[in-house]
Amino acid sequence: MAQTHRPLPTLTELLELASVVSLPLNTRFRGVDVREAVILRGPEGATEFSPFIEYSDAEAVAWLAGAIDFGWQPTPDLLRDRIAVNATLPAVGESDVSAVLDRYPGCRTIKVKVAARGQSLDDDIARVRAAREYLGSEGRIRLDANGGWNVDEAEHAIHALAEFDLEYVEQPCASVDDLWEIRQRVKYMGIPVAADESVRKVDDPLDVARRGAADLLVIKAQPLGGIHSALDIVRRAGLPVVVSSALDTSIGIAMGAHLAACIPNLEYDCGLATAALLAADVTAEPLIPVNGSIAVVRPLLDESLVQQQLASDERDVWWRERLERVYALLVSSTESTGRHAATSSTSTLAPIGNAAT
Ligand SMILES: [Mg+2]
Repeated sequence: MAQTHRPLPTLTELLELASVVSLPLNTRFRGVDVREAVILRGPEGATEFSPFIEYSDAEAVAWLAGAIDFGWQPTPDLLRDRIAVNATLPAVGESDVSAVLDRYPGCRTIKVKVAARGQSLDDDIARVRAAREYLGSEGRIRLDANGGWNVDEAEHAIHALAEFDLEYVEQPCASVDDLWEIRQRVKYMGIPVAADESVRKVDDPLDVARRGAADLLVIKAQPLGGIHSALDIVRRAGLPVVVSSALDTSIGIAMGAHLAACIPNLEYDCGLATAALLAADVTAEPLIPVNGSIAVVRPLLDESLVQQQLASDERDVWWRERLERVYALLVSSTESTGRHAATSSTSTLAPIGNAAT
């Protein structure tokens, strides 16, 4: 399909089109109570630049390429208009489980965070048990350890948690070598291993697929340089994928929903319901789940909500300076490669997933 490809906006344009917002969370997540983001008003619609604050400028380049991709380039053809989504259960105590899960009406899949710092396996077992009781026997439970276990700890934990009928375990260990090892050890149990950080926080997002270290990949639009770049990775990996967000506003969630809507085979529920963890948003029609799915739409910014959620002057300056530094890195990498930094070239490689099973 012929599509116009707009040039990179200038820094001045970006800064003029930007608002820095600070959204309160209703549940503490990733150790934070607020989520800060830069909302950009692009010609294709609103978009979002929101690398986590501890990430380096170099890591944030792909996030900026992703934000510009969604705001300035037309999205590829959409294959569906709703995306089934999973509930996300942060590492809360078991007594808080049902209150959190009530925010995800109709979701048949729960992603439970495990291996959180300062918690024990007993805490994880209690939380997963409470999630299974909430769901009943029909729904699916997947775990996300964020690389928090070594191989032996992962094996021990997966054995202890298998009785709750696990759909898959996401990033049980941090390194690709360890993912490969734990995948071999639990293969006989029929519990797939998913890679997340091993896709988006490494130089080569396809390495984990190529080495047969995961059964499926978690794909996030913004950290992978945007919808077009992420789609290219999906095609080349040849593995099933779960499209997820990174605790985005509804604008960033829309980017993920559009990516998910472009993927031909989408067999897993996607991690795109996290707007339910926000106590405020930048649109009057937040992308929270209805009957277990979200709509594939670009929500309109509500400028009065944006005004209400503006970050402090100090945080506004911090984000604009970060945007300026990251933009400079993006431009220099674009100049050296002749294309947007995180945007892979169209590949002629055959999908590698089959070789990696
Ligand atoms: Mg994850």
